[in-house]
Amino acid sequence: MRQKLVAGNWKMHGNLQMTQDLLKKLLKKQLPAAQLLVCPPFPYLQQAAQLLQGSTIAVGAQDCAVAQEGAFTGDVSALMLADLGVTHVLLGHSERRQYQQESNELVLAKTQAALAAGLIPVVCVGETLQQRDAGLSGEVVLEQAGVILRGLNRDQLDRVIFAYEPVWAIGTGLTASPEQAQEIHALLRSVVAKVDKKLAENMLLLYGGSVKPDNAASLFGMTDIDGGLIGGASLDADQFLAIGYAAE
Ligand code: PEP
Repeated sequence: MRQKLVAGNWKMHGNLQMTQDLLKKLLKKQLPAAQLLVCPPFPYLQQAAQLLQGSTIAVGAQDCAVAQEGAFTGDVSALMLADLGVTHVLLGHSERRQYQQESNELVLAKTQAALAAGLIPVVCVGETLQQRDAGLSGEVVLEQAGVILRGLNRDQLDRVIFAYEPVWAIGTGLTASPEQAQEIHALLRSVVAKVDKKLAENMLLLYGGSVKPDNAASLFGMTDIDGGLIGGASLDADQFLAIGYAAE
């Protein structure tokens, strides 16, 4: 039985005050049975980890370096994140693929670094609108996920989470229909099953792209959707919690 996960990607939003207010608000409420994960920007990770210490809400980063230490100005290693109490890291988000030119191979190298440091990588995959219109959604997602599936061993894959995030649905208000999302999730699970059936049964596959309290339940109700990666709505404690409840 897979425990649903609802992760908040704060992107480059927030400050010390907002981090404190949002997390304290979450902590005051009855939390859903689904696992919650918040991914603030690097400067607020330590604050978040301290505020959430002893709670069931996990803390994730939005990226990590390939190397664990060394002369890599501006980079933050997975080991450093683990040192702060961070447990998860988002990798290969479409904004990083687009603005930082992150390739599938770089995402794999970062995934290996995250695993080596004991972090759980949440690897994002998804097609652009142009690719969807050309009928290439499945192909693109399988190519992105395939690099991860071929590059890691069975034990490593056991700790990987995939997030299917159609690029055209991120921050646009356009959401994949539950059926569109389910189709890609089922495809993803079927290729993971080719590596190992049990692995596929246990792997969490999140959906991301304009998930809001009013569409979350129908998405999370699909067989192969194990929760969500939430951008905009994760910046509001009430909305984030409502999405968490929808995952029960
Ligand atoms: C995201 O950035 O991962 C995301 C899904 O954003 P939004 O929910 O705002 O579409």
